[in-house]
Amino acid sequence: MNSLFTQIKSQVTARQAAERYGIPVSRSGLARCIFHDDRHPSMKIDERFYCFGCHATGDVIDFTAKLFSLAPYEAAKKLAADFGIRPLPPGQSAAVPKMSAAVTERKEEQRVLGLLVDYERLLQQWKEEFAPLTPDVETWDERFCQAVRHQIPVGYAIECLLSADPAERKDMMDYIRSTDTAAQIEDILKNGIPEVNNRGREKDRAA
Ligand SMILES: [Zn+2]
Repeated sequence: MNSLFTQIKSQVTARQAAERYGIPVSRSGLARCIFHDDRHPSMKIDERFYCFGCHATGDVIDFTAKLFSLAPYEAAKKLAADFGIRPLPPGQSAAVPKMSAAVTERKEEQRVLGLLVDYERLLQQWKEEFAPLTPDVETWDERFCQAVRHQIPVGYAIECLLSADPAERKDMMDYIRSTDTAAQIEDILKNGIPEVNNRGREKDRAA
């Protein structure tokens, strides 16, 4: 990874860039999305951003690149100039060796965040695709029910992991680890949910 990118990302959050560049961000960290025609703020923006409308996600460099229609490296140079960050001389790494445990944890947070974002997207798809046709709860597709149950907690988990506050991210990671949530989501993304698979087999047997 280019050291300028690493430097920028460790010193400027997506939210700071948004505020600096005149995008109104609410106290709870919501802004109107710059990736789709967003009438009401649906983008959560903190260290990184995630749009609950169009699912656009990324970091401060992705955000700035989109905002000014720049290539990522141009966006990084603009951020460096606007936030007074001086690029390190070539060969000098921005990463400090003793930080490696923190870096590993940061990577794990990003991996889990990626899973949550994929899952949130799948739930949204299920909610639309399997929306009930009758008020009879018995007939509702399990995927719709799962979407209704999980969408809000998953959205909350995404918000926590987007946070620039390490304590908030740690609390959520501790919770996710204690409940084995990441492995469960991985399984659902790969294999679907057991309730639906079982029902599918029952149907096969009945036929
Ligand atoms: Zn959007």
